[in-house]
Amino acid sequence: MKKVALSACLLGCTCRYDSDDNFNENLLNLLNSYEIIPFCPEDHCFGTPRPTMDLVEVDKKTLAISNANQENISDPISVYAKDFFIKNPEIELFIGKDRSPSCAVKSGKVYDVEKNLLHKKGTGLMSKVALDLGIESWDAEVYEASHTS
Ligand code: SF4
Repeated sequence: MKKVALSACLLGCTCRYDSDDNFNENLLNLLNSYEIIPFCPEDHCFGTPRPTMDLVEVDKKTLAISNANQENISDPISVYAKDFFIKNPEIELFIGKDRSPSCAVKSGKVYDVEKNLLHKKGTGLMSKVALDLGIESWDAEVYEASHTS
């Protein structure tokens, strides 16, 4: 069975920053021929509930910056992501929650250091690792729209 890595909140896990979920039954039905391997870098690294974060471009690098204390909290997310794909080498498809600073594939808001919005096509730090590994990667809402007849 093919394996898909999926943001755990889309499966109904209450791992969002506010302890809610993003359960998406239609998406799960579309993936019923896959074995689903869930991930949530933010819950693993920072617990739930937790402060929000934003993607901020600094010296041409996109970082995750905590909205609680403006700390750069990118490294734990990237370490989790690399470890996830080492432990799950047979992932063929990656679907991340759209607009998430960790899981968005091409839909994250990216700000400059003064918090001006630069664009809304940013890649979250977990998704970046999937893309760097050459794994087919989709924002959840784009995958759903493209595969719903
Ligand atoms: S980090 Fe990703 S999986 Fe976790 S709650 Fe946010 S969008 Fe969902």
